[in-house]
Amino acid sequence: MLSLDPRTIYFLTGFMGALMSVVLFFLRRSFPPTIKGLTEWTAAPAIIFVSTLLLSARGAIPDFFSMTVASLALLSGMSLLYLGSQRFFGLPQSIRLWSSLVLAAVLVLAWYAHVEPHYGIRVLVASSLIVILSASHARLLLRHGTRSFATSLTAAALLIQAGAQALRFVSALDTPADGTLFALSPAQTAIITTFTFSMLMVTIGVALMATDRLRYEFEHLASHDSLTGALTRRALLEACEQELERCQRKDHVMSMLMLDLDHFKTINDIHGHLTGDRVLIDFVARVTALLRRPDRFGRFGGEEFVALLPETSLEEARNVAERIRADVASAGAQPWCTVSIGAATSSADEASVDTLLARADAALYQAKAAGRNCVKIGA
Ligand code: GH3
Ligand code: MG
Ligand code: MG
Repeated sequence: MLSLDPRTIYFLTGFMGALMSVVLFFLRRSFPPTIKGLTEWTAAPAIIFVSTLLLSARGAIPDFFSMTVASLALLSGMSLLYLGSQRFFGLPQSIRLWSSLVLAAVLVLAWYAHVEPHYGIRVLVASSLIVILSASHARLLLRHGTRSFATSLTAAALLIQAGAQALRFVSALDTPADGTLFALSPAQTAIITTFTFSMLMVTIGVALMATDRLRYEFEHLASHDSLTGALTRRALLEACEQELERCQRKDHVMSMLMLDLDHFKTINDIHGHLTGDRVLIDFVARVTALLRRPDRFGRFGGEEFVALLPETSLEEARNVAERIRADVASAGAQPWCTVSIGAATSSADEASVDTLLARADAALYQAKAAGRNCVKIGA
């Protein structure tokens, strides 16, 4: 059977971790600054690699480096991974808590390494801190992460890491005081190998989480208007096509509102373009707050918007439109602005989104012709 000595295993997994650090370094440079935590995630595997280098040089370099500095590097690297995840999710970082825990543990480890050497106690101290770190990290990901392969992989690797260390903790209970990391039973070597491989999986997992986030941000950028945050015309039309198809399959109705701000050009002319922009942002926030969860709201161009209301009858659509109109007209914000709305509902044999839009548009035209600041229904 292929057998590898523990030193080689630590070195190789640490080295693969260092390669992940290089990957993360280049990812980080091409990622937008909105994605946080990558600095910590990049530094952590490199620091952990230093720890495995020192550890595998045990005997060839002074014990202080191969034991105490190596533990400091391992625990700091793992804490950094955790702090990186906190930043990634936009949470406050608990730097003080983890640095004090790591420092306290390293002091105890140094005592039982150099003053009163005792391998069992060192393992107990190091593995209990690692169990706490890994389990807290897994909990953080499961609480705040998206439900994705990347999150599950990282959390699973952390739980395996915690499990391996817990087993190591148990196995250390009957280890002789003068034991060493390199004179272990096959079961203990298997536990440590599991630990180092799961550490590597964690660094791969966080890199995947970062690329998932990047994809999400790009998709969001492509489907949302940068000024107002409403859907873009294309994203809204896609949603309308899907909804119409669903309605026809399930024999439901859907409604559409076409909204256009009144005399918006005058607002720009009198108050300036920036104020006009602010009115648009405020308008979208108001309308979004009045819509239900399944509704979609998009900017069709300029100061013209469309709301898609799934499973909504014409009467209900008229009520929604009236609520929006009244809310905008009563807004205390300056400058005062009103909106005209055309509503239309799909018929059983609605041919396309275009015909529905055309009816809502015709109704909007009627609302403008009727003096603005009102709601009209498309035939
Ligand atoms: P009506 O009541 O008939 O709709 O009149 P209106 O002035 O609202 O309509 P019109 O189509 O003449 O003018 C629309 C204005 O919207 C003109 C354009 O400069 C302005 N606009 C379009 N997009 C933006 C934008 O992103 N920001 C700002 N501030 N203004 C915009
Ligand atoms: Mg207008
Ligand atoms: Mg217009």
